[in-house]
Amino acid sequence: MNRPAVPAHTPMSQFLQHAGELLVGGIPLSRLAARAGQTPFYAYDRQLLTRRVDELRTALPPSVKLHYAMKANPMPALVCHMAALVDGIDVASAGELKVALDAGADPREISFAGPAKRRSELRQAVAAGILINVESFREVAELAEICAESGHVARLAVRVNPDFELKSAGMKMGGGARQFGVDAEQVPELLAEIGRSGMKFEGFHLFAGAQNLKCEAIVEAQRKSFELAVLLAQSAPSAVRFLNLGGGFGIPYFPGEQRLDLTPIGHNLADLVDRAGRELPEAELVIELGRYLVGEAGIYVTRIVDRKVSRGHTFLVCDGGLHQHLSASGNFGQVIRKNYPIAIGNRMAAGECETVSVVGPLCTPLDLLADRMELAKAEIGDLVVIFQSGAYGFSASPQAFLGHPFCLELLV
Ligand SMILES: *Cc1c(COP(=O)(O)O)cnc(C)c1O
Repeated sequence: MNRPAVPAHTPMSQFLQHAGELLVGGIPLSRLAARAGQTPFYAYDRQLLTRRVDELRTALPPSVKLHYAMKANPMPALVCHMAALVDGIDVASAGELKVALDAGADPREISFAGPAKRRSELRQAVAAGILINVESFREVAELAEICAESGHVARLAVRVNPDFELKSAGMKMGGGARQFGVDAEQVPELLAEIGRSGMKFEGFHLFAGAQNLKCEAIVEAQRKSFELAVLLAQSAPSAVRFLNLGGGFGIPYFPGEQRLDLTPIGHNLADLVDRAGRELPEAELVIELGRYLVGEAGIYVTRIVDRKVSRGHTFLVCDGGLHQHLSASGNFGQVIRKNYPIAIGNRMAAGECETVSVVGPLCTPLDLLADRMELAKAEIGDLVVIFQSGAYGFSASPQAFLGHPFCLELLV
């Protein structure tokens, strides 16, 4: 009998297996858990991080600069690893700025965006000598005062809220009314103010949205961002040196989603590099990526504490859950809850499967990590692995909720 085709998760082929165990950085999962000394934990694979950067370098024109947006994963050891591979780090707070500087990133290659930069953060950013992506008239006025007080020269770029949206983005962050950036139509006036202030104008930053799996939509957003920047450059007090075209490259989380095709994006960027040579001759093109660089290199590992059958439905009850992996529970911006790719990491070769729900230890029905998924038949003590967990996991989860122990992060 034919069963209707159920969309499947894209295979998580980035991780190898051996003797029925998932390998992280060549280490079998149960051994890694013993090394960690506890569950739950996040594990990030250095080789996969490096490989992802290499793949991007191959697909994109060599002159396009690659920045890591560290809010995706701010673990200090991981930021150190990334800082050595990419051309710059994008931070979104003074806390992230400290981690980036500690990681050895060159201040000239750090940029700072965020809609509520406090005066103290602006002062720190000016002292550090990083590029500040200003998002309001208030920031420009405060920066001018900080420069007058300190004698330091602020470097700034204008974050533009474009007059178009990124189609098919999982999360839209530009176009229409937004708290991010300065509306494109107000930018000429802001540029005039920057010119009068004597601060160092260096370029534009546009970020249309995140988690996009449609290469045509990314190509269109990057082309429109470029054209808007060329137009706005006519009002700039000095030449554009940096043009940050954003990113928004997505990774496949849910059944039916496929990995992004980089080829058309690379071709389009090559075309924009050509055009920049004529239309913005002093500008370096930058793209900033968070989840695309780190998301697929990370897993979350939690141990099965109990196995219960309730009126015919099997629940694997684990020591980790929503409080440590909010997005896998479906509560980090998803409209409809869908399952992340999940496996029983110490039974990768198992023959027998069953349909189960994987839940965490919290006293709320929201603490659901997998809803009716077909997994290898698992026992108490087995290790549940949630893939695609290298971004917006540990730091994007309410770990204090319900007072369970905090989880660990390992870079392997
Ligand atoms: C969040 C954010 C990013 C990173 O988004 P990803 O989806 O992780 O690639 C990049 N730039 C800005 C301005 C952001 O706010």
